[in-house]
Amino acid sequence: MRQPLIAGNWKMNGTRASAESLIQGVLKGSSGIAKTDIAVCVPFVFLELGQRMLSGSPVRLGAQNVCTEASGAYTGETSAGMLNEFGCRYVICGHSERREYYGETDAIVAKKLTMVASAGMTPILCVGETLEQREQGFMETVIASQIDAIIGANGIESFGQIEIAYEPVWAIGTGKTATPEQAQDVHAFIRARIAEHDAAIAEKVRVLYGGSMKPSNAAELLAMADIDGGLIGGASLVAEDFLAICQAG
Ligand code: 13P
Repeated sequence: MRQPLIAGNWKMNGTRASAESLIQGVLKGSSGIAKTDIAVCVPFVFLELGQRMLSGSPVRLGAQNVCTEASGAYTGETSAGMLNEFGCRYVICGHSERREYYGETDAIVAKKLTMVASAGMTPILCVGETLEQREQGFMETVIASQIDAIIGANGIESFGQIEIAYEPVWAIGTGKTATPEQAQDVHAFIRARIAEHDAAIAEKVRVLYGGSMKPSNAAELLAMADIDGGLIGGASLVAEDFLAICQAG
């Protein structure tokens, strides 16, 4: 059985004060939730706060991006080693917003995954299709190529130390959610694609759903056989909503 993981992706939101009270709220409510792994992926500037507040608690800390290089003249970047030192357990890699606005290619994403894993953290690899791609019948082609690119670059073994998040781009921040059946189909497709290379890894890897997951739809999504958790944007910014999703896991 795969234990669910519910990870909040705060994106670029919050102030020092709101970050502190949000972490406080999550901490308080998380104590009764034993069967679900919980994480918050905060902006870099709140990592120190997160590390301090979450230390000794079951709530895990994550970052939203990482540099492809280990150190050096890369102005504005943050290395995997730095994230590790600030207590990160997870790093989101290849989010569709990074792919779209910052030109992250599969090759760049593959390199980021390697940096994260070699620093001893767990990457959360995001994949997903746009509405146009889905409507034109290319959903499976797009997802397969995103997964295959990582297998090709980093090897199937790299999926032994990874979380995957399926995030249909058309469902992110739009209020539109994939139906549980639509999501389940894609999750099963991702697992089958990995199973073609290694059945044991496919069975073990968690595939999270992301895209307008909220308290009202979390339980039915999480009830699907291949949905092993969620990567939560908007609803992770309100402690009660985030905790309600964690409870549903
Ligand atoms: P929303 O939950 O706001 O749709 O965002 C999903 C997401 O992009 C999480 O990474």
